[in-house]
Amino acid sequence: MSKPPARNGAPQRHPGEEDDICPVCKSNRYLNPSMRFLVNPECYHKMCESCVDRIFSQGPAPCPVAGCARTLRKQRFRKQTFEDLQIEREVDVRRRVAAIFNRRESEFNTLLDYNNYLEEVETLTFNLLYNIDVATTEARLAAYSKQNATDIANNKALSARESASTEAQLAARKDQGRLRREAARNEEEEERREREEGRREVIDKIAHSTEDPDKIAREGQKVVLKKSTARRNATDRLRAQDAASVDNASVPLFQIAGLTPITQPEPDKAYDPFGGYVIRPTCFTLQEQYEHPWLEKAKTDAQIAAGGYDVGEYCARSMMEAFAGLGVFVEEEVAGRDRSPGADVGTAAAVVTGGD
Ligand SMILES: [Zn+2]
Ligand SMILES: [Zn+2]
Repeated sequence: MSKPPARNGAPQRHPGEEDDICPVCKSNRYLNPSMRFLVNPECYHKMCESCVDRIFSQGPAPCPVAGCARTLRKQRFRKQTFEDLQIEREVDVRRRVAAIFNRRESEFNTLLDYNNYLEEVETLTFNLLYNIDVATTEARLAAYSKQNATDIANNKALSARESASTEAQLAARKDQGRLRREAARNEEEEERREREEGRREVIDKIAHSTEDPDKIAREGQKVVLKKSTARRNATDRLRAQDAASVDNASVPLFQIAGLTPITQPEPDKAYDPFGGYVIRPTCFTLQEQYEHPWLEKAKTDAQIAAGGYDVGEYCARSMMEAFAGLGVFVEEEVAGRDRSPGADVGTAAAVVTGGD
């Protein structure tokens, strides 16, 4: 970029010690270390906190810096982020422009279109930064913002969602790390405790038994070794699982624009072991209720019902047994014996299993 043109109304930076002196009341940070400087994005003239309190507490007032006289409000004063006020102002302007021109590359047909758009935006920003045609530029900005209000809101919501999901992922990863560290600490503690316990046991045994002390010590060592190996294997498995889940979590962080969304396959239907074949009584219809004094007694008797006895179940079984065999003709069955297996089988799945 070429050399910036002369600035009108932009703050002049004073080098050296003067940075620590309030241009309004001339108090020095050297004498008052708790002094804080504030700037107002209206003109970016800095002044100390007590000056802001004194001058602007009664409402809007003109900037006290000589030759400025812009009307400032107290609530817009804020802490200076960058030492160079020119940078402070540039960051503010860029943030404001970027909030309005928030189109994404994926919205453009070609890269050339997108680059042209970026160039246009940069020209507007440059004009605002160096006060070139400010009125025209502001008008263009306002017009664009009005015309594209919906798109701007949509893209804003989109980036908010993206940053929220990124933050959630970072938080999850942090959490996992913390849990892993905790687990490692616990494991170390456990191992130390077990070793201690094993040693104590061995000493106890040696004291109270008549066996060879060397043998007891060897056996005790073996037990401790076995335990720690088992635990190490378990934690190794857990760690591998953790690593796998971290890898999965990091995938969505990479975003490539312009990809078509992947359609999810339909979820599998519930498994039907009979392949649609329904076993339903054909010779009778099961009633909800059967009137019989004995059944009524069974229904209300706590001694019978306590065991989970179900009168409905009893009726269904009685009916099935009463009608069992009806509609079955022995001649047909006997004639069918010579037919190939599978022809009479009820379901397609049964044919497959019974066929070979
Ligand atoms: Zn001051
Ligand atoms: Zn000013």
